[in-house]
Amino acid sequence: MSSFVFIGGDPAIDFLNTEIAQEGRRIDLFGRPDDVLQWLKEVSGRDVRSPLSLPKVKQLRAAARVLIASGRRPRRREVDVVNAALARGRGSFQLRTSKGEIRTHFQPEADDALFMLASYVADFLASADLSLVKPCQGTNCVLHFYDTTKSHTRRWCSMAGCGNRMKAALHYRRSRAAGG
Ligand SMILES: [Zn+2]
Repeated sequence: MSSFVFIGGDPAIDFLNTEIAQEGRRIDLFGRPDDVLQWLKEVSGRDVRSPLSLPKVKQLRAAARVLIASGRRPRRREVDVVNAALARGRGSFQLRTSKGEIRTHFQPEADDALFMLASYVADFLASADLSLVKPCQGTNCVLHFYDTTKSHTRRWCSMAGCGNRMKAALHYRRSRAAGG
């Protein structure tokens, strides 16, 4: 089983979700460079052999968090961080079809971890509707997801996780209020 969380609906958001919270404590799933390579392997399906600087990965993740999930106007500072990572690597544009629609997709070469991460971020920023990036409503949960439901009513990172916990908490509160 993977030790990472893949509920974001897009690798760019799953990248943000490598910082999680458990019992109110923040946990960074990128503790070592090998964690980043393992994550990239699980996302891309390819063996990524790349020297990398963990502080740079975290700097990129922090910039991506602001650009993708803060709701703020994009600022030069964060854009520069992503661009610096994008300048490192190579890749190619491809066409992909999904549900009868055609889209461009950038396929990074698997030889530079920071570049791969930045290309996921750039791909998402260029094509996504950022108003559909939402935080999970679970108490103390810090995960985000891309709400691709038709009605745009997704509220939880996962029904099995926060969805259930919140339902149980609500039920408990209601039954206590009813004196039960
Ligand atoms: Zn959650």
